[in-house]
Amino acid sequence: MKKIYKKSTALLLALFVTLSFFGCAKGNDSGAGSTSSGTQTTASGSTQENTAENTGTADTSEVLPPDAGIGETGQDAGQGEEPGENLEGIVPASWMDSDIQAWVKKSDPVDAVDDFHLHVNRDWMINTTIPEGYSSFDPITERWIDVDSQLADILKNPDKETDPELIHDQELVQKYYKMWMDWDARDALGVDALRELLDPLMKVETLDDLTAYLSMPRTVISATELLQCDVSMDWNNADYYAVYIMPVDLIFGDSMYYGFMSESDVLNGQPYYFELIHHILVELGYSEEEATEVLKSCFAFEKDISQYIMTTEEEAARDAVEKENNPRTLEELEAEAGDFPIRKILEAYGVEKSNSFILTQPDWLEAMDVLYDEDYVGHLRDYLICYTVQDYATLLDRETFDIFYKVINGISGAVGTKSDETFAVDAVDSFMPAQLGRLYADKYVTDETKTEVTEITKEIMDEYRLMLAEETFLSKETRQEAINKLDHLELHIAKPDKWEDDSGLDFKGSDEGGNLISAQDEVGAFWVKSMNEMVNQKVDRELWTSRVHQVNAFYDPTQNVITLCGGILGGSLYHSGMSREELFANVGDTIAHEISHAFDTTGCQFDEKGNLRNWWTKEDQEAFARRADKLAAYYDEIQPFLDVNCIGSQIEGEAIADLVAMKILLRIASKDKDFDYDQFFRAFAQTWRTITTLQSEDFALSQDTHPLPYLRVNCVVQQFDEFYDTYGVKKGDGMYLAPEARLEVW
Ligand SMILES: [Zn+2]
Repeated sequence: MKKIYKKSTALLLALFVTLSFFGCAKGNDSGAGSTSSGTQTTASGSTQENTAENTGTADTSEVLPPDAGIGETGQDAGQGEEPGENLEGIVPASWMDSDIQAWVKKSDPVDAVDDFHLHVNRDWMINTTIPEGYSSFDPITERWIDVDSQLADILKNPDKETDPELIHDQELVQKYYKMWMDWDARDALGVDALRELLDPLMKVETLDDLTAYLSMPRTVISATELLQCDVSMDWNNADYYAVYIMPVDLIFGDSMYYGFMSESDVLNGQPYYFELIHHILVELGYSEEEATEVLKSCFAFEKDISQYIMTTEEEAARDAVEKENNPRTLEELEAEAGDFPIRKILEAYGVEKSNSFILTQPDWLEAMDVLYDEDYVGHLRDYLICYTVQDYATLLDRETFDIFYKVINGISGAVGTKSDETFAVDAVDSFMPAQLGRLYADKYVTDETKTEVTEITKEIMDEYRLMLAEETFLSKETRQEAINKLDHLELHIAKPDKWEDDSGLDFKGSDEGGNLISAQDEVGAFWVKSMNEMVNQKVDRELWTSRVHQVNAFYDPTQNVITLCGGILGGSLYHSGMSREELFANVGDTIAHEISHAFDTTGCQFDEKGNLRNWWTKEDQEAFARRADKLAAYYDEIQPFLDVNCIGSQIEGEAIADLVAMKILLRIASKDKDFDYDQFFRAFAQTWRTITTLQSEDFALSQDTHPLPYLRVNCVVQQFDEFYDTYGVKKGDGMYLAPEARLEVW
């Protein structure tokens, strides 16, 4: 998927990137949902009592660990002995949530058989410190810090490039980096550059004014609009691109929150956030009272429209993609949009000639027709003002920037601040990911890494082929479809073989009269143009849609491709000289996890080319759902905090991926008579070691689609005989699960 640069999401992205590091990044996949939702891809199955604490800034100081000793609970003695898939009566272990460093520090050592994660990682968790400016620390974050310093080196000590493309890349990143670091110039400019952009919006009084504003190409390039538009692989014809039309972003992300929030809940619940926008509005010339009124007016629109926007739980549901796949013609869109000027907005984007439009949430568009009313103009304008302001918050003066990071720290619980250099690297990275990525790949990603990781991937795919052929719960035809899909899996490993042609990209540096905001405009215009050039064109599957230097891996069902970014293939996660056991526990686990997404409840809806075509028989789907339900019910019973449970339906897709990844690795290991299981399981537990703040853990519990890191170890290994055999786990031990209670989806 190509994202138009500019948007959203300077702030939201920064927020989510920051918050997605609590050990969950390993499987932070781009699911189908990410195509349809520019806002969040995380699910939230949050229960009412949970969500109140999870609006981001709640005081979690009173949250307590479950009051249970290790190994006391009852996976023993009769409780788990019912046969079949019924989980009734099974009480999962009450391991302490050992991701929370404050709790680990007070804990005694434990045996491997009682709490494997804590046993392996306790010393590290006690003796490690969360770095300044971070809310958690784990091998993924550690690797990100490495990558950031490699990127900083590229920016501070540029190599003498000879390749014309790399020379151009280097000029661009240098220009932007220098402007970002020039605080004198930024302070001198203040909010002036933003004022010019906002001026036409602040003058909007009537519906005609608003329509004229939304129809300006500058608006779609530089400001927030009242819809989100993206050009991406067509769900109904994967060889071509389609234009996706999606609802607006909401400050609280999940529309579910708005159902029970009052205006004062909002102002009290997100003080940091409101402080930031309020500050910039006052800088722009609003009085204190006027700025507060603009924020309240923005919230009024969010509350009204949120009723017609899917919750993150709905977006993560098994039938979400089916519901979001609503192909439309432009005429049909116009009819549904009524007074809302959708055609004019799409013309401003230059995508109105597309042969295929997909409207992800028809209820939202219908509601926009109703709200696009003369009496309501003020709310729509104020929403656009607030969002445009927050998009630029990190590009203004020092004072605003410091408030921005106070906001982020307030939400995540981080203490201290990263260095300016790190912030500048992040800024260049989000502004010119392809240019920085090419320089990174050239300097740090070797062909040997690409070859070796490709070989491991193929070995894992071969084992998947054997496992799929043996799956007796699936019909023969579904098994054949699965194997066909595996055979067509595209591999994007380490670095691309082919890069997008963005040689025409340029912007003015400070010595040419440019500034960060004008640069954002110029680059935004380039990406909008390149987006409308994709309309009605064939998809090129060799092109990557993710950053090379990212410390992450993905499966994208709309292309049937797994991506292992160059960034994740380094540091403690991957290096030459690793034993086979360590390789399996790190990169092998990541690969096996991602491949499984081709065959899960989302993956089964897309065929081998990425078309939305469910290739499972109804019976097979039901059989899979029964197994998934059992797994979800198991996680539902686990309480990381006192009286706060995991949400099984929210994390089941990722928990299944973790489980099948381990199964595949153990199947391969079983063919190697010298395989060192102890070394493997310990290395596996180490990849998930995490220290985090209460706020971050609380946020992850309610919003992340991945299980909490300590559960990604304990709940996985306890399903497999090899673990019991290696450590002698028996009935009564904390890690014990009766054989009939164990989870097996694949
Ligand atoms: Zn995953």
